[in-house]
Amino acid sequence: MRPPRPHRDFVRTRASAKHNPQIRVMQWNILAQALGEGKDGFVRCPMEALNWAERKYLILEEILTYRPDIVCLQEVDHYYDTFQPVMSSLGYQSSFCPKPCSPCLDVCGNNGPDGCAVFFNRERFRLLDIHHLCLTAVALKTNQVAVVATLQCQVTGRVFCVAVTHLKARSGWETFRGAQGANLLQQLKGILSAQQEEAVPLFVCGDFNAEPSEEVYRSFLNSPLGLDSAYRTLSADGSSEPPYTTWKIRPSGESRSTLDYVWYSRHGFSVDAVLSMPSEEQIGPDRLPSYHYPSDHLSLVCDFSFIQEPHRLM
Ligand code: NDP
Ligand code: CA
Repeated sequence: MRPPRPHRDFVRTRASAKHNPQIRVMQWNILAQALGEGKDGFVRCPMEALNWAERKYLILEEILTYRPDIVCLQEVDHYYDTFQPVMSSLGYQSSFCPKPCSPCLDVCGNNGPDGCAVFFNRERFRLLDIHHLCLTAVALKTNQVAVVATLQCQVTGRVFCVAVTHLKARSGWETFRGAQGANLLQQLKGILSAQQEEAVPLFVCGDFNAEPSEEVYRSFLNSPLGLDSAYRTLSADGSSEPPYTTWKIRPSGESRSTLDYVWYSRHGFSVDAVLSMPSEEQIGPDRLPSYHYPSDHLSLVCDFSFIQEPHRLM
């Protein structure tokens, strides 16, 4: 029998406003099935723990445990046969953008390319616009993509954008990630400025494959879009990221890093609560993925509320 999934509590950061419905956002690199079985080389994870027939239910269980209004996923290589139909039956509308040359395609018996996908509660939000972006670096197209959805909250009428991305992996590619991040910021600025409404707020969820010390992290923190990283609110000083969002053991050794972020517009949203990270003991000595957690990346889940604009106050 599989051990239970690690229990994680929400840490409240402020008292939420009474008439301001919250938006729960999940960011998660779910680990592409083809990469997990065929490329990653997780030496302490038994192959049976990666069996798709069971692992897909653990991924869905994680999503259903928190029931986010918006779900941003990377490394999705089972969109059409699993996530699109199942999430649709659970009330989510969605959009998927595959990577142009997904490394999944190199794996024997693959299920197609992996990519980024956004899912949103279709009763709560109306889709106004959708963009599938190919990220460039020094004017050249790269293998990394983003999905940007413009949504309107059916309760408040407020319009906002949500973007999901997965930047280039591996050390030695820091400058490349910096260029991809700059290009994403530029493309987001273009999408936001084309909106009917002024100062449309934004979420950017992603596996940035970059520690907070990297240039791409700083460029997001200091961008003219006025973004902040939601998980910084978990730290004692309010300005540090969690110690890890991914933790795995490959033949090259153990790798514990902070690579995943939920960025939000400071002018548009406040962070009400953040899902705490599991402890080292909960993750266990064999790290991730494992029988009790289906990806090498941890999910990030945050509750936001709209900052009340003076002209919208009744
Ligand atoms: P990336 O370098 O961004 O990495 C791809 C995936 O590999 C990521 O999902 C990443 O996971 C994972 N990864 C990171 N570190 C390791 C590691 N040490 N060992 C195993 N996996 C790791 O890939 P690109 O998008 O730039 O694609 C490059 C690959 O694409 C090439 O290796 C090649 O196999 C393939 N390719 C295929 C082509 C085709 O036509 N099919 C053409 C060109 C390239 P995470 O983000 O979680 O770290
Ligand atoms: Ca991966």
